[in-house]
This record gives sequence, C-alpha cells and structure tokens, in this order.
Amino acid sequence: MSYSLNSKIRDLKPYDPIEGEYRIRLDANESFLSVPQEIKDGILREVDRVAFHRYPDSLAKEVSAAFADYYGIDPSWVTVGNGSDESISVIMSAFLMKGDKVLTISPDFSMYRFYASIVEAESIEFQKEEDLSISVDKLIQTAQQEQVSMIIFSNPCNPTSLGLNRDSVRQLIRSVDALVVLDEAYMDFWDQSLLEEITDYDNLIILRTCSKAFGMAAVRLGFAVANPTLTNAIKAVKSPYNSNTLTQKIGSELFRHPDILRCGIRQIVESKNKLYQDLKELESDCGEKIFVYESCTNFVFIRTEDAKEIYHFFLKRSIAVRLFPGFLRISAGNPEENTAVVQAFRNYFQMGKGEQL
Ligand SMILES: *Cc1c(COP(=O)(O)O)cnc(C)c1O
Repeated sequence: MSYSLNSKIRDLKPYDPIEGEYRIRLDANESFLSVPQEIKDGILREVDRVAFHRYPDSLAKEVSAAFADYYGIDPSWVTVGNGSDESISVIMSAFLMKGDKVLTISPDFSMYRFYASIVEAESIEFQKEEDLSISVDKLIQTAQQEQVSMIIFSNPCNPTSLGLNRDSVRQLIRSVDALVVLDEAYMDFWDQSLLEEITDYDNLIILRTCSKAFGMAAVRLGFAVANPTLTNAIKAVKSPYNSNTLTQKIGSELFRHPDILRCGIRQIVESKNKLYQDLKELESDCGEKIFVYESCTNFVFIRTEDAKEIYHFFLKRSIAVRLFPGFLRISAGNPEENTAVVQAFRNYFQMGKGEQL
C-alpha cells in the first residue's frame, strides 16, 4: 500500500493561533466583555428546552429572522454559517471553479487565500498603497485585466483597522464583472455597511459574525447575506446541519436584546478610542518609533521596526498581541488591560512614567 498527500494539502499545518497561557489576551480581536447576565439567563432557559435528539433546523430560520430583525433586513437574504469562516469556505466552494481567479487585497484576513487554495482557485494579490489605503480605481482595473471571478476583502479591514467608505465599495461592486464578497466582520464598530442595499446588486455577498462585536466567538455563528439567487446557491452548497441547535438558540436569544448589544458595542468602541489616544500620545513621546493607524474596528494596528522585539517583550510580561512582519495588532481590552499594554510600551522604550512591570 502506498498513499501520499496531494500537493494542495501536503505542507499544511492545523490552525493554531497562539500557544501557551497569557494573563492578557489581546491577540484575537475578541470582545473583552463577558456576556451580560440577562442574556446568559435567557440562553440557559433556551438550552433547557432544546430537543437534543433531533437534528437542527437546517435553514436556521429562527436565528436568521432574529439577525435580520436586528439589522432591519429581510430574513430570506440570510444564510447561517458555523462562524463566518465556514461561510467563506462554503462560498468559495460554491462560486469558484478550479483555476478561477480570486482577487485579494494585501494585507488582509489570511483565510481568504487559504480557502481559495483548497478549491484550487488562483489567488491574485492586489497590494494596498504605502499608507495601507486601497486605490479603488487601480483595484477595479486589476479585476478587469485579470478577469477575476471573485473579489474578497474585509471592510473595515483586519488587520489594518482602516475602512473603505460606502461610496468606494459601491463603485467597486458596480464596476466589476466579479462576485464581491464583502466581509463586514467589524462593521458593527463603524457605520458604512451595505447590508440594507444588498438586493441592489446581483454580485454582492456580505459576511457578518457574532464573534467580534457580540462577544460570541465561542458559539461559532456567522451570516452570509445576499440576494435570493445567491442565497439559494449558498444554502444549496452548505452542509445541511452546519449550524447546531445550541448555536441557533443562543443567537436567537442574543438578538432579542438589541439595546444591550448596542451598549456593549459602545463600550468596546470607547475602549478602543482610549487605547488609540494613549498610543498616539506614546507615538509622539517615543519619537515616532511607532505609528498608530486610524481605527474603524475594535483593535489598533501599529507600524514599527521593533514589532518582533516588542511582541516578545510583551509575551515575557504575559501580554499576547498579534505580530505581523513590521506591525502589531492589538485588540481593545478592559481599562486595566489597555493600561498594561501602554505601560509595557513605555517600559520597552524605557520611558519611565510609571513603575516597571
Ligand atoms: C474574525 C474574523 C472572521 C471570522 O469570524 P468567525 O465568525 O469567528 O469565523 C472573519 N473575517 C474577518 C475579517 C475576521 O477578522
């Protein structure tokens, strides 16, 4: 007998974001808020009523309706995913044929290129400008020249924390002959969503998630929103029971508390604003050895030549942030966590102001 792995998976390793236990975890853009007691109580009541011996609702109607109600859209445009990560995978399988071209915008969420490779699509990487902004005209030109079948990107962007305004995204969608997959994982922290106008386009899918703004990363709940034709295709391709009953019930309960959810988002944005301001102050205090980008998200993105050194300096102090070559991405934490991060930066640059950690 002889069996060897095919070339597309031979060198892959299981996803393992970070090893070890850390006192402060600001590496995964999770919410720092725990689920409010009122919502937890509702979830426990729902779980108690679950028919565990039955398969889930394959169309996840109740949670789709709750999600649609929260965002003011039509539930028939919604497909539930086991996290939006799974939705990305399903969408790639559905809308790409082997050898089709997918346009990604670098730097961006790394999973896009990964899922494209699994369906044997060809990824084409469009580079952002020096300041990490996106030249939409150049992007459209590249899409047309390369005849790509799909364009996928996050807006606001993970990891750059920058956003592309509505008009630019509309221009992109209208100007290309490709399916645009718009990952709005962080749009709850900004106000430039295209959700409400989804049916104006025959080539747009929007992804949303409960993992970031709603503090539900553990339950795996994401949504793909599109016009009925595209929605039908996504639903037909996904595995029938991709979303389990517990997740569906938890999501339904979650969206029954819109005021609590909006209050949580406000708290996260305030925390991010404070972290941003404190780091901006540090930026000038340290002679601009770091540069902090504007942020439309729940994290900040920092350019620094010392990224790697700072990353390891932080880990030694049990603070986990996300390292990219030449950059650091830091999720907004609670006030104590944010203070610890800013203090750790000051210690790294040996700037006094407060005691050593
Ligand atoms: C976190 C993140 C996701 C994944 O969300 P899940 O719903 O937890 O799978 C998708 N896209 C972007 C850009 C993200 O940052």
